[in-house]
Amino acid sequence: MNHQKYTEISEECNRYGAKLIAVSKTKPVAQIKEFYDAGHRAFGENKVQELVDKKAQLPPDMEWHLIGHLQSNKVKYIAPFVALIHGVDNEKLLIEINKQGQKIGRKINILLQVYIAQEETKFGWSEEDLMQFLNKKKHQNLDYTNICGLMGMATNTANLSQIRKEFNGLKLLFDKLTQSFFDQKNDFNTLSMGMSSDYKIALEEGATMIRIGSMLFGER
Ligand SMILES: *Cc1c(COP(=O)(O)O)cnc(C)c1O
Repeated sequence: MNHQKYTEISEECNRYGAKLIAVSKTKPVAQIKEFYDAGHRAFGENKVQELVDKKAQLPPDMEWHLIGHLQSNKVKYIAPFVALIHGVDNEKLLIEINKQGQKIGRKINILLQVYIAQEETKFGWSEEDLMQFLNKKKHQNLDYTNICGLMGMATNTANLSQIRKEFNGLKLLFDKLTQSFFDQKNDFNTLSMGMSSDYKIALEEGATMIRIGSMLFGER
């Protein structure tokens, strides 16, 4: 655990009123426990199996975020406890999450992932598809999903102005959706963007949640 970085990033989050998710993927439970002992509770994993395995070995009051791509057939394994699913990138997945929530009587918190990068390897709704989907109002009947906001990943590039532009675009979309679709719903308040390499820009552009792995845990 990099205590100095942890303190530094935590303070930056406090300054912006943002929440820090410590991304522990590929890292052993002993290292996660160090963060727990330092008082940290919110952790992010990108694989369902790994998340479930680690949860079983760690204290029950930890808050688990699923940050990566999620397959519909795996939702059931995390539905009972997951704090927030960041990567909801299609309607089928959203409906499956709702179905699993209904089964166990739990309303599941999710973020809609938007494609903002210029990289084919990244997932997410296009702005246009997302607007179209929300316009259909079907999401309003999903009683067991709580749409808490948006998530996005910028292009992996050294071009900082491009990253800023992408984050700024996501923030503008977030504000637009807040007004058009979620104005009565104060749960739509989370903008998850920014990782180790670009979190400072993300905070400046309005992130309310950042997901930091390597800077806290070391390179993977
Ligand atoms: C791995 C990962 C992160 C953290 O990346 P770092 O560069 O290690 O900070 C954030 N978000 C998602 C979706 C990830 O998969």
